[in-house]
Parts: sequence; structure tokens; C-alpha cells
Amino acid sequence: MSIETIGVVGAGQMGNGIAHVAAQAGLKVVLHDVKDEFVQRGLKTIDKNLQRGVDKGRMTADDKSGTLARIEGATELEAMAGCDLVVEAVVERLSVKSEIFGTLDRVCKAGVILASNTSSISITKIAACTERPERVIGMHFMNPVPVMKLVEVIRGLGTSDETTAEVTELAQKLGKTPVECRDFPGFVSNRVLMPMINEAVCCLHEGVAAPEAIDEIMKLGMNHPMGPLTLADFIGLDTCLAIMEVLHEGLGDSKYRPCPLLRKYVEAGWLGRKTGRGIYDYSKS
Ligand code: NAD
Repeated sequence: MSIETIGVVGAGQMGNGIAHVAAQAGLKVVLHDVKDEFVQRGLKTIDKNLQRGVDKGRMTADDKSGTLARIEGATELEAMAGCDLVVEAVVERLSVKSEIFGTLDRVCKAGVILASNTSSISITKIAACTERPERVIGMHFMNPVPVMKLVEVIRGLGTSDETTAEVTELAQKLGKTPVECRDFPGFVSNRVLMPMINEAVCCLHEGVAAPEAIDEIMKLGMNHPMGPLTLADFIGLDTCLAIMEVLHEGLGDSKYRPCPLLRKYVEAGWLGRKTGRGIYDYSKS
């Protein structure tokens, strides 16, 4: 099946980024969220990010308006009925994703690929909520999607070779570099990255150093482009906690225990940049 229209479920930081790159690559996009205000917020972010490209001379104003015109907003999953592939990018919670995949399986045509942008949840479990496990796959984009090259392609137990090949080709069409891995908690990216972030929060919790010092040590010492605490705020502390919980439960090793301070920040609603407060305070910037 040739992929001309893709559906994106969830218009948050990842969903709007996926819609952005898909529309920019010439695909039609249906961008869904639970409320119209969330869809509009996603569209506004895409507009702002495309404008940055225009200002820097990387695209014309016509390219920008053409890209935006290819994106249609929706608040009902039934709007995905005409899509050739759907990528889900909602909160990192199995119960929410399961329900969405069950509905998408009923709404979408037979043979349509249902992909998840999950950071850590089992693709095999998500696929089991559908009658088409061979067409369910992980398509893990990195944040910010328009900038980052990697798409981690995760095969569930029942994912077919054809599905993997089609998603690999789509990722390339979006200008990304797909890399395949198997379905284990956190896959490769977050199994390696998230324990480092969690350990940085532990350093903060134990008073080993101030947040700025922890970030500076990791930036200068390890040649990382940003420190782990800055990165955690960028990813979202709720997402970081959800990933640590999946690693802890799925791998059963106490080394993956989420730092209590990370839990406390999430309980306070300090989720990072997206709420204006996380490890750092963004309310004035
Ligand atoms: P976010 O909080 O920015 O956005 C989540 C969006 O999902 C919100 O707009 C919310 O309204 C919407 N949503 C919630 N329930 C919904 C439902 N039932 N139907 C439709 N929309 C619903 O989160 P995010 O950072 O964009 O993360 C989304 C997914 O991408 C998660 O699975 C996360 O693990 C994964 N991910 C995140 C990052 C990152 O750096 N933040 C990187 C890669 C993957």
C-alpha cells in the first residue's frame, strides 16, 4: 500500500513534530488530540517551527503555507479512517495506548500499519490489543523531531518483515535514519539514556552538586550537547518517570528504581519545559 496520508494521534511535542516532518515531506496528515485546543496548540507550534525555517532561508513562505495546508486537525479517531498509516504519540501510559490501538484497529482499513512512538512500552503488548499484530510496530522518533535524525524501529513479536520494510522506507522518506532493534523494555535508546538521567536526579537528590554543576560536568566532561537535567526537562519529567517504571518493572532489577525526587517533581506537576517548571524554572524565559 503506498503511503500518502498519515494519521498522528496526540498533538503534543512529539506528535506535532511528526506531523511537521510528514507534511514537509509532501504527505497529507490528520493530526488528532482529545480537545481542539490541543490540536490548535500543536498546529501553532508547527507554524512557529516552520517560520524559523523561513527566517533562516531554509524554506520559502510558499513551502511553509503548502506544508501547513497538508495538515488537517481532528478530535475523533474516526477521522483516521482514510489514513494509510497511523503513528500514535500520546502520553506514555499502556492503558491509554491500548484503548487507542483497539479503536484504531476497528476504524482503520485492513492492512493499514499502526505505529507507536512509545519510548519504552512493549510493542508486543500494544499489538495484542489489535487483530493485526503483524501490522503493529514501534516508530520511535527523537525530540525535537524536525531536527533529530534517528528513528528507532522496534519490531514486536508478531511484526512482519513487510511492515518493517515499509516503515523503514517511510522513515527515509521523512529524511530520517531508521535503525532496527528488538522489543525489550526501553529498547536501546532509553535503556541506555534514562538510567543516566535518573542517576543525575539522584545526584541532585543526595546533594552531590547543584543542577547547573551536574549538567556542566556531563556537558564538558562527556562532550554531551546538553546536561542530563536539562535534557530531562526537555523530554518531560512525567515521560522520564514512566520510562523508568517500565524499565524497573520489565527488567526486574533494582538498579532501575526511579529516583524519589523525580517522582516528587512529577507529583508537583513540575514536568519540565512543557509546564514552565521542572528541574529548572522556565516561567520567566
Ligand atoms: P506530551 O505530553 O507533549 O503530549 C501528549 C499528547 O497526547 C497531549 O497533547 C495529550 O493531550 C495527548 N493525549 C493524551 N491522551 C490522548 C488520547 N486518548 N487521544 C489523543 N491524544 C491524547 O508528550 P510527548 O513528549 O509528545 O510524548 C508522547 C509520546 O512520545 C510518549 O509515548 C513518549 O514516551 C514518546 N516520546 C517522547 C519523547 C520526548 O522527548 N518527549 C521522545 C520520544 C518519544
